[in-house]
Amino acid sequence: MNAVERLAETLRREGYDSRLRVNEPLACHTSFCIGGPADLFLEVKEQKELIQCVRLAWQMGVPVLILGGGTNILVADRGVRGLVLVNKCSHLSIAPDGTLHVEAGKPLAELARWCVAEGWAGLQWAVGIPGTVGGAVVGNAGAYGGYMSDVVRSVKLLLPSGEVREVGAEALAFGYRTSALKRQSGQPRRAVVLETTLALQRGDREALAREAERVTALRTQRTPQGPCAGSMFKRTLQYPAGFLIEQAGLKGCCIGGAQVSPKHANFFMNVGGATAADVRALMEKVQREVWLAFAQHLEPEVELVGDWEAEPFETVYTLGEAGSEGEKRRLR
Ligand SMILES: Cc1cc2nc3c(=O)[nH]c(=O)nc-3n(C[C@H](O)[C@H](O)[C@H](O)COP(=O)(O)OP(=O)(O)OC[C@H]3O[C@@H](n4cnc5c(N)ncnc54)[C@H](O)[C@@H]3O)c2cc1C
Repeated sequence: MNAVERLAETLRREGYDSRLRVNEPLACHTSFCIGGPADLFLEVKEQKELIQCVRLAWQMGVPVLILGGGTNILVADRGVRGLVLVNKCSHLSIAPDGTLHVEAGKPLAELARWCVAEGWAGLQWAVGIPGTVGGAVVGNAGAYGGYMSDVVRSVKLLLPSGEVREVGAEALAFGYRTSALKRQSGQPRRAVVLETTLALQRGDREALAREAERVTALRTQRTPQGPCAGSMFKRTLQYPAGFLIEQAGLKGCCIGGAQVSPKHANFFMNVGGATAADVRALMEKVQREVWLAFAQHLEPEVELVGDWEAEPFETVYTLGEAGSEGEKRRLR
């Protein structure tokens, strides 16, 4: 019996039998609708279950992937080895001074809409962002001038040591669409966000509702419809990634079932039956052509997770000799 089978047996003994799934296709659990099977798959609604399952897996040497909404990842066609835990823990409480405690499985957009309706300011920019609070903390999600890092005061983590500890926001070293937690990508044990404390302020309900409507209208206008994982690349120091991709003439470009959206070039769409390999090949093509054209390196915002046959993404594409052609073309 291997470690995964031993873990499955232990989880069944601990009472997870009816919920534990084996070889669950992850395409059904990601906004890209792409991804092979998870060896073991479990949804958890209580924090104590989340902690118990992660600790058991780690003790037995089985890797764990936490899924929030699955809206910012590309899962390999070969799937994910080990245990995938979908975090549905979503309790929240708010103090009169606006200190909000919320579990990481709470959908961010739902939380933001609740805050607007209750007259709490701080998350109105987030009303249309899919995924969970945990995923948003990990990737320092943001939109229309707002960032998670503006409101996060602390997070309660399950550390790779198995210990639960609350740490201040400074320990997360937030950056543009990143954090110390996202930088742990690829490590055998990554800290799990259990809950976070946000600092909100009292606001005018009507003004907040108007702002929420404004950002919703902008989002509807700009965001392509269909399976995708949001922005594929981070903006560079100088330019939005979509602008560079569009200027390189890549709007509408396809590999297999993956397409650079004709509406917004930084959205890669699954237009039907796309594999993870299709998307990855399209990412590499776009990176290469943007580099050759403008000497700008596009860093992925979407995280590649699971069992990739090839090397980790970042090392596949090196900047190499590019750039010379970049000097020949000018960005308008
Ligand atoms: C149509 C569309 C529009 C989008 N618009 C925006 C936007 O405007 N701004 C923006 O910033 N993003 C946007 N995104 C991307 C995405 O919605 C956000 O990044 C979101 O915060 C990801 O949350 P998630 O729960 O889906 O994370 P997932 O995709 O499930 O996970 C992302 C990473 O976080 C880790 N993770 C998740 N939860 C935990 C946890 N509790 N503990 C530890 N690790 C965890 C995962 O293991 C993975 O490494 C968009 C995506 C789509 C599909």
